[in-house]
Amino acid sequence: MLGRLPAFSADGILRIKEQLRSDPRPGKIDLGVGVYKDATGATPIMRAVKRAERLLWEAETTKSYTALPGEPEYLAAMRRLILGDDFEAGRVAAIATPGGTGAVRQGFELLRMARPGVRVFVTDPTWGNHLSILSYLGIETVPFRYFDPATHDVDAPGMLSDLAELREGDVVLLHGCCHNPSGADPDAQGWQALIRVINSAGAVPMIDLAYQGFGDGLEADAAATRAVCAACPEVLIAASCSKNFGIYRERTGILLAVMQDAGSRPLAQGALTHLNRQSYSFPPDHGARLVTMVLNDAGLRADWQGELDGMRSQIVSLRGALAQELRRRSNSGRFDFVEAHRGMFSLIGASPAQVASLRDDHAIYVIGDGRINIAGLGMGDVPALAKAMIKVGL
Ligand code: PMP
Repeated sequence: MLGRLPAFSADGILRIKEQLRSDPRPGKIDLGVGVYKDATGATPIMRAVKRAERLLWEAETTKSYTALPGEPEYLAAMRRLILGDDFEAGRVAAIATPGGTGAVRQGFELLRMARPGVRVFVTDPTWGNHLSILSYLGIETVPFRYFDPATHDVDAPGMLSDLAELREGDVVLLHGCCHNPSGADPDAQGWQALIRVINSAGAVPMIDLAYQGFGDGLEADAAATRAVCAACPEVLIAASCSKNFGIYRERTGILLAVMQDAGSRPLAQGALTHLNRQSYSFPPDHGARLVTMVLNDAGLRADWQGELDGMRSQIVSLRGALAQELRRRSNSGRFDFVEAHRGMFSLIGASPAQVASLRDDHAIYVIGDGRINIAGLGMGDVPALAKAMIKVGL
């Protein structure tokens, strides 16, 4: 029977990881999967996380089960990190999940449970796994214009024109900050326009937030999510601790359901807890506990924030250096968007043939749609990348 399973090919990003591993060329450059690398090319364990881990090793007395929705201290600490101290906690239901992707999956399940036949509007482009999980769950997706390849910025008029098709009960899947694969985020005005179009249709926003702290700072990067929660009666937020705590493999995430009022919170909490039970019972706890310790201890938190600020500056410097090198080599400002974008990613506008040439002729691995992870670059790689980009005709 199992021999009759359908055959699945590896997801694009994971396929690149495999190709890279078997590429013997020295100096190969990995600009694929969204993982931060420091100046030495390593993905370090953050100092505060390592210290919390040591403290936990000493203090932990049991590995017995945690609570089904996750530990209340973790859920509260993450709610405050994302929504701020002043947001009405009584409106927020939450579960801990295995990573941000686990939260995305549980969020989609919740939507389907609340409204069979729900339609989810997705930015064009969005992440491949948004589309594949939605398709796997049999949820209809409606793409809407988001990115203008000519300006390398958000296509605000196109976005709002496509979202005029929203109907009551539709869901709009958005990226909290620096998470759209294009590298472009709406500005504050753009978010307000999004809020108006969503609210006037009676649609529900869902925000995938995986890079808080990588754009302009922890508070600034939460501003859009907080603006949405201040203005919309119901919001789902799938958040990840993988990148900003550097605990990718610990699988640490959270799904928040912001409800219209405190009275409807138990309904959402019951459904979320039920979803955890049906999927994996108790969520992973180790990463969540480290995050709780870091967020709730002033010393650890300050150290974490300082290191995160350093990671953000490193990405900003890489963006500046790459833009400058491209300016010099192309004698033009056509790559200045690299400096204007925020976070790890930028769509560089490479065609599939150019992506193949970058890989085959220059040992530079880029996602098929021409997206690069700036944080995968070392400062020393900048000239080689700029040279190759011009060489392949960008
Ligand atoms: N959302 C999406 C769509 C992702 O692709 C990822 C991984 N880059 C995340 C969230 C967060 O990552 P993780 O599942 O590792 O927490």
